[in-house]
Amino acid sequence: MPAVRVPKERAESLKERLKKLGLYDGKRRPRRDGDSVLLPVIEDPGIEGLEVLPIDLPLRPERQIYVTLEDVLREKLSEEELRHLMRYDVIGDIAVVRIAPELEHRVEDIIGGLRKVHPFLKVIARKGFHSGPFRVGEYSVIWGENRLETVHRENGVEIKVDLGRVFFNPRMKGERYRLARLVRDGEKILIPFAGVLPYALVIARRKRVKITAVELNEEAYRLGLENLELNRKRLRGEVEFIHGDAFRILPELPTYDRVISPTPRGVDALSLTLSKAGRFLHYYDFVHEAKMGEFRGRIIEHCRKTGRDCDVRIKKVSDFKPHTFKVCADVHIKG
Ligand code: SAH
Repeated sequence: MPAVRVPKERAESLKERLKKLGLYDGKRRPRRDGDSVLLPVIEDPGIEGLEVLPIDLPLRPERQIYVTLEDVLREKLSEEELRHLMRYDVIGDIAVVRIAPELEHRVEDIIGGLRKVHPFLKVIARKGFHSGPFRVGEYSVIWGENRLETVHRENGVEIKVDLGRVFFNPRMKGERYRLARLVRDGEKILIPFAGVLPYALVIARRKRVKITAVELNEEAYRLGLENLELNRKRLRGEVEFIHGDAFRILPELPTYDRVISPTPRGVDALSLTLSKAGRFLHYYDFVHEAKMGEFRGRIIEHCRKTGRDCDVRIKKVSDFKPHTFKVCADVHIKG
């Protein structure tokens, strides 16, 4: 089987193109060669200017590929036990698991399984619940290095977190991407409850915007500043980060094109954030499925009271507990 030579900057895009053409040989391994990369192909793709070499790149070793933790544990756990397995997260090189009481005797198997599925892990931690005003989770390390600090990669940015001191939820990756796509260059954006700045970083990475973020937890503020430094070269937008209580700081601030409120559970910041939103508000909250209409009505009522006409769409973002969802109200303020 031949290989083609490409400059390494173009390797990824050409690989995609070859895959689309059905000519990429996924059974073999690409190889670095100085400033270029040799990509395995099934036949000469006939692309002008592309050097084709008559060499056989090595085959990838045949090995058993475990796709999911459940697949791995199927060999050891009963069907009944498997039903108690809970979703886990991988944050940087830390796996975070919840283990049901029914699986207490299976902790070692779960650790082994996670390490098989994610060979790069350095820490496995068990998670309790989030509590307190800063929404920090309770964790205990059950395998690996004794730390809860790591750098998580998401949406093209690096996010340093310390799970023992700050809130961070990797499952909001899709939400952050969704918002980053809605935002237009030139917008002024306010993000209270900003944590270690995941929303601000993901948006500023893609859009030329001015963001003001506010956070009360000093540890999160400090990590957020580090994250700005860590990502400085990647950001197209600017981020100003204020340490303080959103309920004291926001009244002093002007209005913004867009406000994003990752509201802490149990806090009502609706009128506070709405008062700062010029055109759009994305308001996160936890709502029982039977109360969705009421929640929407409350927002519309708030808008009406402040003399504004609003279009409100509620989107379920994730399951929080049975029948209660984390939702985002996308509020479009017209006129
Ligand atoms: N936006 C971040 C954090 C969301 S959790 C993320 O998605 O990861 C809510 C955050 O609000 C926590 O970091 C908590 O410390 C912060 N917080 C709680 N009360 C606050 C207040 N009164 N003013 C500013 N931040 C506050």
